[in-house]
Amino acid sequence: MIMKKLCPNCGTQLDNDAVFCTSCGTNINNGPKLPHFITSLNKRMNITAILIGFAVLGVFIFIFSMLFSFLVANGFINFSVFRLNNHN
Ligand SMILES: [Zn+2]
Repeated sequence: MIMKKLCPNCGTQLDNDAVFCTSCGTNINNGPKLPHFITSLNKRMNITAILIGFAVLGVFIFIFSMLFSFLVANGFINFSVFRLNNHN
């Protein structure tokens, strides 16, 4: 069974993916949507995921900067080597 949309203005049968009524041009894209609590929950989940991502990223950057400064301070990384390689 194929569900068909009806134009709320003139009652013309429209395709399910129709955005405007083919008869009168009414915007019919503001029909049934997801319940509001689901969309707001989705937004909150996304924000939480982004915050967790930034927190994890911050921890990684902190660890790598500590590791990098440790390596430089202990002479594991010598910048003069890179400079010599660049001149070649
Ligand atoms: Zn219409």
